Amino acid sequence: LFANLPEVPPDPILGIASACKADSFEGKVDLSIGAYRDENGKPWILPVVSKAEKILTSNPERNHEYLPMGGLPSFTSAAARIIFGSDSKELKNKQIYSIQGLSGTGSLFVGACFLYECYDRNKTIYISDPTWTNHRSVFGLAGFKVDVYTYWDSSLKTISFEKYISSIRDAPEGSVFILHACAHNPTGSDPTKEQWQIIANEMKAKKHFPFFDSAYQGFATGDLDNDAYAIRLFASMGFEMLVAQSFAKNMGLYGERLGCLHILCKDSNSATRSGKFLEKMSRNIVSSAPRYGAEIASIILNNDELLQEWKQCLVIMSSRILEMRKALVEKLVELKTPGDWTHITRQIGMFSFTGLNTEQSTTMIEKYHVYLTKNGRISVAGLNEKNIGYVASCIDKVVRS
Ligand code: PMP
Repeated sequence: LFANLPEVPPDPILGIASACKADSFEGKVDLSIGAYRDENGKPWILPVVSKAEKILTSNPERNHEYLPMGGLPSFTSAAARIIFGSDSKELKNKQIYSIQGLSGTGSLFVGACFLYECYDRNKTIYISDPTWTNHRSVFGLAGFKVDVYTYWDSSLKTISFEKYISSIRDAPEGSVFILHACAHNPTGSDPTKEQWQIIANEMKAKKHFPFFDSAYQGFATGDLDNDAYAIRLFASMGFEMLVAQSFAKNMGLYGERLGCLHILCKDSNSATRSGKFLEKMSRNIVSSAPRYGAEIASIILNNDELLQEWKQCLVIMSSRILEMRKALVEKLVELKTPGDWTHITRQIGMFSFTGLNTEQSTTMIEKYHVYLTKNGRISVAGLNEKNIGYVASCIDKVVRS
């Protein structure tokens, strides 16, 4: 039955991470996957998460029952406050309905299935060019035609703003636009506040539907409110929209698959009606969201002291990444590597879009055992004092060769 199925090519990110795992070279460096590493290159369990785990596991009332269809209410309501702000007018007016999702990806998929069922399946979903490699397949799998909007000027290594705006204008009215809330993956470059305002105005004029993907709140600037700027701006302008929120990176809960999907509607009646549809979609896709991560996050987000501790963890992670950006540029300047490398410190969040082309990236992997995605994206969190000199020297060599 399945003998003639085409071979599935390796995943552009996970395939590289597996190749790195299989590499026996001692000095190999994994900069492929967007997961935080500490100064020793190890995964970091946030101390506040360990505390919450202790509180959770010592609770004699604890059990492993299924969560309700919408997930753990004390988590979803707190997650909504984190993304929309605790003083959000839309929250107070009950215009937002939130359900738990399987991290960012599952929330995006449920959101896309909802749009297919309840919005308009003939619309096109526009993703940024470039974007996280999974976007196209997730929205395609939900049944949508997927196209791109211009985002990046690879020669200037900045957002190609005029072309971005033209893409918004050229798309048929009412299209769905996937917007990275902050720390754009893979470019590490976000619109300025002024640019967000223009994007929002143009989207409004074309009645486009914004679907925010928030996978890095707290990683761009170290501040949760700052990193939710665009979402709150759109909310304040009266957009109806979806927001997929991941707690994989900012709580270090990658494998626990913790996320939330929010729908913001013009009034509480539409929010409840759509929310019930979201729950139905989620019931059909995952039946019930996972419990463990949600309970940990709920403990943290509903306790002022732990919330503050979490915010400090975000500062620790985002500051270490900033330091590594600076150190990498300094090393490249020291080596007099041809070209201007200041874009690495201008970019924010987990990634740097180095500007290395496919051939150079392939050489980095095959000759030097430094693993990055083939589009030249490095996870800056994978750099540390021990490997940064080696990585800089490899970049220097591939650029010169
Ligand atoms: N969106 C973007 C832009 C991402 O970079 C990621 C993770 N790499 C995700 C969504 C989804 O991540 P997760 O499903 O692990 O929360």
